Amino acid sequence: MTHLAAAPSPSVRVRAPGKVNLSLRVGAVQEDGYHPLSTIFQAVALYEEVTATQVSEGAGVTITVDGPQADLVPLDATNLAWRAAEALAARVGTPPDVALHLAKGVPVAGGMAGGSADAAATLVACDALWQTGLSRDELASLAADLGSDVPFALLGHTAVGTGRGHLLTPAMTRGEFHWVFAAQAEGLSTPAVYGRFDELTAGSESADDPGLTEDTGLMQALRAGDAHALGRALHNDLEPAALSLRPGLERTIVVAREAGALGAFVSGSGPTVAALARSRQHALAIAASWTAEGAADSVWCTSGPAHGARLLP
Ligand code: ATP
Repeated sequence: MTHLAAAPSPSVRVRAPGKVNLSLRVGAVQEDGYHPLSTIFQAVALYEEVTATQVSEGAGVTITVDGPQADLVPLDATNLAWRAAEALAARVGTPPDVALHLAKGVPVAGGMAGGSADAAATLVACDALWQTGLSRDELASLAADLGSDVPFALLGHTAVGTGRGHLLTPAMTRGEFHWVFAAQAEGLSTPAVYGRFDELTAGSESADDPGLTEDTGLMQALRAGDAHALGRALHNDLEPAALSLRPGLERTIVVAREAGALGAFVSGSGPTVAALARSRQHALAIAASWTAEGAADSVWCTSGPAHGARLLP
């Protein structure tokens, strides 16, 4: 008698990167509640890995999560990966039947867009699983509806973002930059940071279109692969707001500077602090200073630019 093993369910794995905003310039809040942004994203080699497995018809979306901060991640329809699967299914008229497993490699609620990377990875994974035939541009348009950082997680590398951050133009870079991130156990809410930004900038001249005219030096540093010049040019308009909500981050920045960081600043909406290092060895030394000073709950050494959402073999 022959036993026939059941065929395994089709499954695909996709990796998508976290990001650091090399420059983040924020305009005055608009009537729709959004702030116009001009930003320069760089993807870093801290990856979210999403495995999408076909399940029986009518099973719907399910989510499981792995990683040191897995308990902070919602497992229901508020998860960006869940919303990405449903949005793609609705777009192509397929039932959203898929089991998603998220292996988290980006700090949660750290201003590094881990959730957005999950959404981008889910779009690419479900696109492959369901063989939708959508173009990359059509996926990017779905991504933009999910959140302003999702299109960049699809694209990766280094790019200028305008609008809500979702209109992207790839930027030229040379070589590799070495980063180290100080993550905090307790996240900062992005809306709370924007709220504080509005309070701090109330009454001041905040541009409707923040523009990147002041980032010419930064773009030159990227083209030349000049980490020292890049370190001097890093900029984040949200930093005062994040620091006012979490004053302890000042010390994390000072410790990195004392360890010789070429630049140290709040990453995105925080509370993660990013430091640019001269080399991988130097990144490890900054990480060691943060740990020794108790200035971070966890430290993450990596490099950029990194690729965008990509199927794994
Ligand atoms: P933001 O894009 O708001 O700057 P972030 O990069 O600071 O986010 P994320 O880890 O992407 O941080 O998620 C922030 C919050 O969003 C989490 O606290 C969590 O409640 C919720 N969330 C939704 N989907 C996810 C997901 N797939 N992974 C992590 N958090 C998620």
